[in-house]
Amino acid sequence: MRSVAIYYSEAQGRLPDICLRCGKPAVCRVEKTIRLHDLAPMHGRGVLTLIRLAADLRRHFRSATLVLQAPFCAAHRRHWAVRRAIVWAIAALTLFSVLAFWLLRAANVMGDTPAAALTVAVGTLGLVTAAIIIGTSTAKHACNNDAHTFVLHCVHPLFVRALEDRRQQRG
Ligand SMILES: [Zn+2]
Repeated sequence: MRSVAIYYSEAQGRLPDICLRCGKPAVCRVEKTIRLHDLAPMHGRGVLTLIRLAADLRRHFRSATLVLQAPFCAAHRRHWAVRRAIVWAIAALTLFSVLAFWLLRAANVMGDTPAAALTVAVGTLGLVTAAIIIGTSTAKHACNNDAHTFVLHCVHPLFVRALEDRRQQRG
């Protein structure tokens, strides 16, 4: 899978009819709102980093948006909807695990054995890890590198080739 820069002018209806995920012919366009200021990777820790992160988040949610009309095949048309549902499910399960942990503790069910607490902790850690994996590995988010393009990640190479061919034809 590859990352590719998309021109703003291409995002709305001028992308090749190739599925972003698998490279097969696309049958539909799925609209996705892209925020044109993406979060910069944060290095270091401490209060200063937190303040920088907060400022960056604020810029992210105030940034201009663009509606991407993304080509997908029939099998992948629900790609983004499914991913969103999974992330929400994991978030809900994680919250549930934490609640269960506190309830069990409050009810003194666990006694002195840390086994139950450990189970819940490990489960929560697993869920959070899964959320991070899903959020990063199949993400197709934008990041602004200049004022004309945004970057799509995890795109199929055939889509990239079709896009490059199209650009060459247009000169
Ligand atoms: Zn596909």
